Amino acid sequence: MELAMLLHKLKMEHLENHVDAVCEQAAARELDYKEFLSRALAVEWQGRDQRGIEARLSQARFPWVKSLEQFEFEFQPSLDRRQVRELAGLSFVERNHNVVILGPPGVGKTHLSISLGVKAVEAGYSVRFLTLETMMTRLIKAKHENRLERALQQMAYPRLLIIDEIGYLPLSREEASLFFRLIVRRYERASLIITSNKSFLDWGDVFNDHVLATAILDRLLHHATTLNIKGESYRLKEKRRAG
Ligand code: ADP
Ligand code: MG
Repeated sequence: MELAMLLHKLKMEHLENHVDAVCEQAAARELDYKEFLSRALAVEWQGRDQRGIEARLSQARFPWVKSLEQFEFEFQPSLDRRQVRELAGLSFVERNHNVVILGPPGVGKTHLSISLGVKAVEAGYSVRFLTLETMMTRLIKAKHENRLERALQQMAYPRLLIIDEIGYLPLSREEASLFFRLIVRRYERASLIITSNKSFLDWGDVFNDHVLATAILDRLLHHATTLNIKGESYRLKEKRRAG
């Protein structure tokens, strides 16, 4: 069988696309057989890896993408750079621990949560980003359409779930209890990143039920890193800079 046909049948499409270049390079660099084989398979592997990253990135549904490298730590001195770097190593995902990012509007909570999410995508984890509002709309709709179980399962599935903007809108009792069910499902099985503009003391009001809020916080914080950002809004800084 011909090489192109073999590569096609083996579904090695990335190598198939680059096979001439790979062979030319091997000849030019006088690679031995083992080096050549490893180089050729690496081309196929990198192509597949890249495609996996792209697929997981699109499944994550980030509203926008910014990296940790784009985050100016100088602007936010209350944030411990070392702690964020430690989180970027993703051992929290490996161990099914959570991250809670607290702070007023504009301090970079969503930016940081997306950046950590992108790192997790690159490392091969499934990630899903949802604002609390979207999440609640989905769950309530599913409940009324008698497919709550499936909707909860879908949200329990990603290895890292990011729930953005807890605290902007208070939840009804029904919503709060659905939120609790999701937290229970994911507890010690998968990681959460949660952002909020409200301190934990105010979560009783956010969830409309102090006992439930305590039960939620109890599970959420059992294995969690909390980043408490106390600084100024980056949006305002940009506005000021623009005059
Ligand atoms: P929050 O979610 O806390 O309200 P965002 O993460 O949405 O804030 O940040 C608002 C905007 O400012 C975003 O475009 C974000 O990328 C940017 N931003 C915030 N903090 C920083 C920072 N320290 N360095 C760079 N960009 C930042
Ligand atoms: Mg935000």
